[in-house]
Amino acid sequence: MFANKVVLVTGGSSGIGAATVEAFAKEGASVAFVGRNEARLKEVASSCQQHGANVLVIRADVSKDEEANTIVQQTVDKFGKLDVLVNNAGILRFASVLEPTLINTFDEIMNTNLRPVVLITSLAIPHLIATKGSIVNVSSVLSSIVRIPGIMSYSMSKAAMDHFTKFAALELGPSGVRVNSVNPGPVITNIAAGSGFAPELLEDTGAHTPLGKAAQSMEIGDMIVYLASDKAKSVTGSCIVMDNGLALQ
Ligand code: NDP
Repeated sequence: MFANKVVLVTGGSSGIGAATVEAFAKEGASVAFVGRNEARLKEVASSCQQHGANVLVIRADVSKDEEANTIVQQTVDKFGKLDVLVNNAGILRFASVLEPTLINTFDEIMNTNLRPVVLITSLAIPHLIATKGSIVNVSSVLSSIVRIPGIMSYSMSKAAMDHFTKFAALELGPSGVRVNSVNPGPVITNIAAGSGFAPELLEDTGAHTPLGKAAQSMEIGDMIVYLASDKAKSVTGSCIVMDNGLALQ
């Protein structure tokens, strides 16, 4: 489905991003992917190469402008064009509105989950217009529908991302570029443990959904591939909730 297509995934070294990289590689895409953890980036690259995919590993911190600025150009220099951008890199941090250090957590989250999305997308837009490509953002069901005390900054970053998805879809539609997001509920990844939460948090939250489970990363990856494909050619400006029914409660 993606033979001769070029895909760029931020946060491709782990979890949802790694599954997305592999899902596109299986579909024949050339895939560039970004992260900071060199060992995990190498692991993902070697499993893609088993599918015969061309890959480009970009070791970069998206929260640093000087590194984020080079990501799109490195991809185009290597593969000659860009068809799909997946804005996936993200972190989760806990800080109550009562905490005096709230602003530090707010800045850290916005500088990772939101600002690079705007920066990297704006650098990618000329290339995506040239290919009539598409963008998929990885948001969260916590962007608007579900609220949990202590994660205001994270929820704000994802709420802003949903607005970005809709405005970009509105303004890029006439150029033939589609923009959507996937808004997962709990997915079994490293995000909770990596942020100082109990590793069981995601499984436990999933157990309390109507379907009684958390999602696996590959399910989200498969939805991202679908949204980027011609099968979704009439879908733009949509935030697709994949939460096992969490938000119904
Ligand atoms: P993981 O922690 O497994 O993966 C996060 C990815 O983001 C890693 O590849 C990490 O790479 C990358 N990343 C984080 N910070 C940076 C940075 N500064 N520069 C470059 N890369 C960075 O988490 P998930 O797979 O769960 O998270 C992926 C996305 O899914 C996030 O946006 C998250 O908000 C969203 N999401 C996750 C849910 C869940 O339950 N898991 C639910 C809803 C949304 P590295 O460490 O190598 O830098």
